Amino acid sequence: MRRLISGTTYWNKGKDDFHLPPLTKDLETDVLIIGAGMSGTLCAYVLSQVEGLRITMVDTLQVAEGSSSANTGLLQVSSDTMLHEFMETIGEDKARGFYAMCQMAMEDLFDISETLSGTTIRKRKSLYCASSLKDVEKIRKEYDALKTQGMNVEYLEEVEVLNRYRVKCPSALLIDGDADVDPVAFIRTLTKHNLDAGVAVYPETEIALDTKRAHSIRTTEGHRISFKYCIFATGYAQKYDLVKDRIAINRTYAFITEPVGKEPWPEEVMIWETKNPYLYLRTTQDGRIVSGGLDEEKDELVENQAAIDEKVEELKGDIRKMMKDALALETHWSYNALFGTVKDGLPLLGKDPDRDNHFYILGYEGNGTCYSMAGARIIRNLILGEEDPFRDIVRLDR
Ligand SMILES: Cc1cc2nc3c(=O)[nH]c(=O)nc-3n(C[C@H](O)[C@H](O)[C@H](O)COP(=O)(O)OP(=O)(O)OC[C@H]3O[C@@H](n4cnc5c(N)ncnc54)[C@H](O)[C@@H]3O)c2cc1C
Repeated sequence: MRRLISGTTYWNKGKDDFHLPPLTKDLETDVLIIGAGMSGTLCAYVLSQVEGLRITMVDTLQVAEGSSSANTGLLQVSSDTMLHEFMETIGEDKARGFYAMCQMAMEDLFDISETLSGTTIRKRKSLYCASSLKDVEKIRKEYDALKTQGMNVEYLEEVEVLNRYRVKCPSALLIDGDADVDPVAFIRTLTKHNLDAGVAVYPETEIALDTKRAHSIRTTEGHRISFKYCIFATGYAQKYDLVKDRIAINRTYAFITEPVGKEPWPEEVMIWETKNPYLYLRTTQDGRIVSGGLDEEKDELVENQAAIDEKVEELKGDIRKMMKDALALETHWSYNALFGTVKDGLPLLGKDPDRDNHFYILGYEGNGTCYSMAGARIIRNLILGEEDPFRDIVRLDR
């Protein structure tokens, strides 16, 4: 399987304490989930609440060692495509439906956080900045769209953004209802819960995807897994034929600082901006700054740490231009990682068009955790034959 990250990420320091063995025999299960990242783990969590389902997860790596360990942990309702932009491209009903799906996913994540201790979700406001004067109009339009979507949003003029948040930009939206998370700790907490609920998890177990049949698949070691339902939660590592013409794999850069002391900017709002690629920064719950951006349309990793660090210096330069006050940006962790995008800006979640019992949860685009949560719910509803108001918006054969 291809590597997805180069450099050092912050979250995966310290190993999990599961000590789970790989799969060494044939196995029969109701639901097989391939991939133990954010998507697979949330699917297992949601499905573990259905009485009587035997659930098995496998992963080539350990739990949460794929792209989920590169996730910079912003949990937002807003996606990389603004609501009013989606209204122009896919129509108002679908656009509003899609944002409603994300609002519900955020609520689901908050519910999980209230139910399970140690889930590390912290409520935050986002400051969505116009990158230039020409984007002020976009921000105004988005304010109207989000307001009528029922979101708690404030429009801030240049002076207000500067005075209240110490950020330099021509205007911004202050959006309430978002959050941050340590993604790896979150997945590990869910995994502990899933194991207690009877989910079987096999790390270091790679699936040979070309052995896929309607009700079985094999590991690369040749063990046969028979299932009623199979969920492909394989992240950016696999380019499936049924979506390969609609997706692109790009690369991006991120870094995390040493602890910076007290609140580096007011309310520690999560900051991002309208231009593409955009710069984003937030604080972590242990007092660091995490930032990323400078995305490149290249489907290969930068392996050279000096080249990664050069990009990180560029990111720091952009932060200095954006922030009124000097920030302590001493860096210990910096990396380059691949990430997936979809041409129409929507994730790919739901049933294989040719097989009713195979499902994909491909939460491509920047707001991946929200999409993993939404996808887990959609797949649960499809398996149980229950109605789902959002499934047609994100279905694979849309
Ligand atoms: C730098 C960066 C920053 C990001 N920041 C954010 C953010 O702030 N907020 C946000 O919401 N999202 C963010 N994302 C996106 C987020 O990381 C992804 O949405 C998320 O990791 C996807 O989870 P996943 O479970 O689908 O994929 P993964 O975590 O990659 O899990 C897939 C798993 O499938 C396994 N697998 C693949 N093929 C096989 C096989 N054949 N057999 C067995 N196992 C297999 C892999 O080993 C892997 O562990 C970011 C992504 C990157 C790269």
